[in-house]
Amino acid sequence: MPLCMCTIQAETASQLLLIIFVLLPVLKMSSGNDSCGPPRDDKAAPKLIVFDLDYTLWPFWVDTHVDPPFAMKGSKVVDSRGKTIKYFPEVPEVLEYIRSLGIPMAIASRTGEIDGANQLLRLFDWDKYFQYKEIYPGCKITHFSRFQKATGLSHNSMMFFDDEERNIRDLSKEGVHCVFVRKGVTMKLLKDSLREFKNKNTAELGWSKE
Ligand SMILES: [Mg+2]
Repeated sequence: MPLCMCTIQAETASQLLLIIFVLLPVLKMSSGNDSCGPPRDDKAAPKLIVFDLDYTLWPFWVDTHVDPPFAMKGSKVVDSRGKTIKYFPEVPEVLEYIRSLGIPMAIASRTGEIDGANQLLRLFDWDKYFQYKEIYPGCKITHFSRFQKATGLSHNSMMFFDDEERNIRDLSKEGVHCVFVRKGVTMKLLKDSLREFKNKNTAELGWSKE
């Protein structure tokens, strides 16, 4: 009898272990805290964040107020007249923060000074942040259709920062979440905009707001 009891207990124990091994991965996935990530947050964050250049990342028109070509002078970026070229102070922090969230970034600029704009992006060491760049004159709807083609993303999953109302108007009509920039991008503007985007999508998908 004791032998028989042992066999039954061993069988029960092995069955329990089997159930635990089968159920554990399923329970972990449904908890939303593993590498699969919580689907709520995925859908509530933009899939691409796009920036204009002039008066959004730097405080000038690159085709008018400065004189390309640009170069490094020590640790500074200067134009052909030796004038130091500066960007809005919080831009590096903004770009680093978005990168830490794992959201891809792009540039949409309608400047005619294409070489100068690209040069500044390289000299400021910002090329590493931008997977996509559309820099040429014309309506920014064209710039965004190219992002759409390149990424396969819909317009309503994109966020766009720009200082000009005409661009905001054009892209809002296309369903892009547009943010009007008054004095350059800041951490506050970024975080407020991410929250707004999340709340908008949460409401649309019928989730409760946080
Ligand atoms: Mg601008």
